[in-house]
Amino acid sequence: MAKLSIDDLDLSGKRVLVRVDFNVPIDTDEEGNRTVGDDTRIRAALPTIRAILDAKGKAILMSHLGRPKGQPDPSYSLSPVAQHLESLLDARVRFASNTVGEAVESTVRSMPAGSVLLLENTRFESGERENDPAFARRLAALADVFVNDAFGTAHRAHASTEGVTRFLEQSAMGKLVKTEIEYLSKLLDSPEKPYVAVLGGAKVSDKIGVIEALLPRVDRILIGGAMSYTFLKALGENVGDSRVEEDKLKTAKKLYDEAEGKIVLPSDHVVAEAFDNDAPREVVIGSIPNRAMGLDIGPDTIASYRETLMEAKTIVWNGPMGVFEMTNFATGTNAIAEALADATEKGALTVVGGGDSVAAIVQAGFEERVSHVSTGGGAMLEFLEGKELPGIAALSDA
Ligand code: AMP
Repeated sequence: MAKLSIDDLDLSGKRVLVRVDFNVPIDTDEEGNRTVGDDTRIRAALPTIRAILDAKGKAILMSHLGRPKGQPDPSYSLSPVAQHLESLLDARVRFASNTVGEAVESTVRSMPAGSVLLLENTRFESGERENDPAFARRLAALADVFVNDAFGTAHRAHASTEGVTRFLEQSAMGKLVKTEIEYLSKLLDSPEKPYVAVLGGAKVSDKIGVIEALLPRVDRILIGGAMSYTFLKALGENVGDSRVEEDKLKTAKKLYDEAEGKIVLPSDHVVAEAFDNDAPREVVIGSIPNRAMGLDIGPDTIASYRETLMEAKTIVWNGPMGVFEMTNFATGTNAIAEALADATEKGALTVVGGGDSVAAIVQAGFEERVSHVSTGGGAMLEFLEGKELPGIAALSDA
């Protein structure tokens, strides 16, 4: 069912409560001053904020930051984000030192049309994660309409993502969420073939659901990262000291057998005897010697994965191919980023999601050369699994 979007609303003079994802890295200097690190998520919300300001609405923004314990904690305050947003918008951003309550309501009343207020961290209230109706009602009391522009938290039913919609007549997708849904829906509804998924990262356990959901739809699933060693060990390969989820060997074997050749595993590996960027490394084909661990996919694997990707018309990528945080083991991940950029140029629809793959594509400088960089990791995987995202399902129908 199509959902209402911010473009369908008349925002003039309205109090618009927007759930954004301002859960950004914060740097703290020696004097304890806190500033925003990577501001990608803040910039991603700008189109929605600007639309509200242009329509002369009042933008009341809310977000969580980190994992405070349901009570105020200055080390998780959103106040540096308000300052940063001010510089990005080149306009005043008011900051409320509470999330709900009399003082906040009074601030909202005094806001001129076309202005912005950022509320304090929603997770300073225990009712946020508990999705407490009383807290959701107090949030809703601040506004006339609700807009969800936080795709990254859409898979969580919290008061600020789901509960709040019950107490307002209209709840709509923001521009970012709308774009996310548009692109990710293309991966679910009749994607052009060949359709190839690239999955990596640490754990098979995080990806079982998405592998099961993708198998009937895709032509190939190319696997990399530590999760490939769980598969290889399950198939009887020697993986040395590589990271393996012992309790997932049976599941991995079953998935592999059911996939009837669609799951492709690395044929060679960059290995080292220590989990260290400076550890001496070598390429091994096939089985990994005892005492060595696989930390990246090898050159043959890169070449064959690239060949498959260059033939694809639809590609989704989630999870690094190795320990890409260490430059000496980032080659495989960077090569996949480059292959996606080149495939996009050849006309493929390419979607990247998950914190690490996004960091890798940005680090490699290919962010602008793929079709869509998703702001959701967990949310994207759940969407691809065909699960209903509570933060989207709760929005008004179009
Ligand atoms: P995930 O959070 O599941 O996407 O996993 C990302 C993490 O997996 C990154 O921090 C990588 O360093 C790590 N990773 C990827 N490949 C390997 C590997 N071969 N051995 C150990 N860790 C890995």
